Amino acid sequence: MSTQPISRPSTFAAGADDIGLIIQALAFAAHKHRDQRRKDVKASPYINHPIAVAHVLYHEGGVSDARVIAAALLHDTIEDTETHASEIEHEFGKGICDIVLEVTDDTRLDKADRRRLQVERSADASHSARLVKLADKICNLRDMLNSPPASWDLGRRREYFDWARQVMEQIRGTNRRLEAVFDKVFARRP
Ligand code: ZN
Repeated sequence: MSTQPISRPSTFAAGADDIGLIIQALAFAAHKHRDQRRKDVKASPYINHPIAVAHVLYHEGGVSDARVIAAALLHDTIEDTETHASEIEHEFGKGICDIVLEVTDDTRLDKADRRRLQVERSADASHSARLVKLADKICNLRDMLNSPPASWDLGRRREYFDWARQVMEQIRGTNRRLEAVFDKVFARRP
């Protein structure tokens, strides 16, 4: 059985084939993350994370734009795997690729710079990228509460919460439902 995604047209007209687009994005992301694990004690499969982000967008944020859901499924492929932007552009079109690029950190920078840049750049991000960012932060805070990385002490987890809120404050006004979810999760800061 081939693990390669089935080839698809390189661009998707909005609403033309939403389910096909989402399945394709899921297959692509599952393939790219296939050997990765999350940092939690149980070392959950990495793909659980992008699926959780898409789930939050749709079920908690009421976001039904298939391109945003697809971008959510793909959001960590460039940053955390060998995926090149041109592959995403070829498979999914420039619009989705641009969203993914907007939520991708430059891994050549150190952690402090990456975090600082995320805060600085969030205010100027597109609406779609902000939605993905919001859902990503919600999922990461939940993970931090429910299954934190094995090596992270309390101080590091608190720091992560505070940084996530700084990013969040830059993009407040994007989606009220997601922002309410974020605030509720943040209220459980360790
Ligand atoms: Zn993520």
